[in-house]
Amino acid sequence: MPLKQLVKNLLSPIVIYRFPASPFVFLTFDDGPDPQGTPAILKILDETNTKATFFLEGRKMEQYPHVVREIHRSGHALAYHAFDHRPMNELFLSELIAECQRMKILFRSYGQEVQFFRPPYGKITILSLFVFGLYNKRFIQWSVDSGDSLGCDAKSIVNRFEKRNIQQGDIFLFHDDAEVTPRVLREIIIDLRESGFSFGSLQRRKDITTA
Ligand SMILES: [Zn+2]
Repeated sequence: MPLKQLVKNLLSPIVIYRFPASPFVFLTFDDGPDPQGTPAILKILDETNTKATFFLEGRKMEQYPHVVREIHRSGHALAYHAFDHRPMNELFLSELIAECQRMKILFRSYGQEVQFFRPPYGKITILSLFVFGLYNKRFIQWSVDSGDSLGCDAKSIVNRFEKRNIQQGDIFLFHDDAEVTPRVLREIIIDLRESGFSFGSLQRRKDITTA
């Protein structure tokens, strides 16, 4: 077996790019809670009766707890995106352990044991895999980047979804603090529904079966 495949197999249970066996697609939002962006996103999700997953920064959770409560109250999945968005390759062992322990503390008041983590910039190191694996955390990456944090305009973001071959189990990457996101989200949701897709959340185990 080629080394690349071997490494991929070794990592696959911990690092997830999509849920190929799931009948859903997944909207995920990074870098929140954001006092402006998040409420605008929540409104669209509510109006379109859509569930999503929010990968939150610990520092901002402490700053804007009322926004986190609003996400939670609306029935979306809470997940973690590091305390202050430092990439894994800059963290020492003790800091990686501290991140895992923080996950427990930060989400405790929402009555949730959070398992899912998205590493800032999608950067993963062997050491971070080992530490998060020990704590039974899972790294959730994405299979489709909306481009909302890459300076793409509204039209090209919507086009990305239309042109791309979207498949069940795909994980879409958006950002709470990207100004363009609330302007494109409704259209993307409606288009995907019309194409026969349903939206799942990482909170519901049955949505993310990988069997
Ligand atoms: Zn981020």
